[in-house]
Amino acid sequence: MSKLKDKVAIVTGATSGIGESTAKLYAAEGAKVVVVGRNEERGAEAVAAIKEAGGEAMFISADMTKHTEVEECVAKTLEKYGTIDILFNSAGIHDAYDNALETDEESWDKLMAINVKGPFLLSKAALPTMLDKGKGTIINVGSQSSFVAGAGGAAYVTSKHAIVGFTKQLTYDFGRKGIKANLIAPGFIDTEMTEGIDDPRLKDIPAERAGKPEEVAALALFLASDESDYIQGAEIKIDGGWTVG
Ligand code: NAD
Repeated sequence: MSKLKDKVAIVTGATSGIGESTAKLYAAEGAKVVVVGRNEERGAEAVAAIKEAGGEAMFISADMTKHTEVEECVAKTLEKYGTIDILFNSAGIHDAYDNALETDEESWDKLMAINVKGPFLLSKAALPTMLDKGKGTIINVGSQSSFVAGAGGAAYVTSKHAIVGFTKQLTYDFGRKGIKANLIAPGFIDTEMTEGIDDPRLKDIPAERAGKPEEVAALALFLASDESDYIQGAEIKIDGGWTVG
């Protein structure tokens, strides 16, 4: 269990759902994990669980839409662990499902700030360290809404398409310099984000069920590990076959 031995990983949205499962798996595989979130209590719980299982982690409270807090998060990581190898950008929201006509400017801006600007700010802050060492991994979390329009709504679908473009551009600009950037596109995963949503379409997808955050974490581990070093600028769906048709 040491696919990420001695690597340092910053995981955002790590106090719940996909981010929390990924933080725990990364730590179980030997990474020193920075659990980033805004809820101190849940952050402390996640770190305690990692340490109880024999791993290493610390919690940093940061709002990923604020560049000062993101830069401070990177500075604290470097102070404590000396380097940064992996970014897992899981922080995100899906609180607006409306069409363009019904979407207000405030919800549009809020959603874009978290789902698109957040990964940009963290990448920008961590890239100098990664480029100095000539190696680094950035994993962004898209969605089935990265490929298809539909029930996701105007703002969310736009944000998840945008993050595909950002991942590609990271690869174009920095792939030759040792930066491996990829996108995970989950379908319907059982987390707090989907709590209470009884999507009737789920029974019609090939897998006939929702996914588990642990299943997404397993893919996130592969993409963070050296085993996937030839995968660059890819969008990998994990959606039980939802988007085949
Ligand atoms: P989740 O709600 O459990 O996790 C999202 C996390 O992001 C939460 O911990 C939340 O506190 C954090 N967050 C929100 N705004 C933040 C901010 N400004 N600064 C810092 N943290 C912030 O849901 P999840 O399902 O684990 O979602 C993780 C990612 O997966 C999101 O990007 C989401 O869009 C994506 N996704 C989820 C599903 C699904 O079905 N659950 C499907 C496709 C994509």
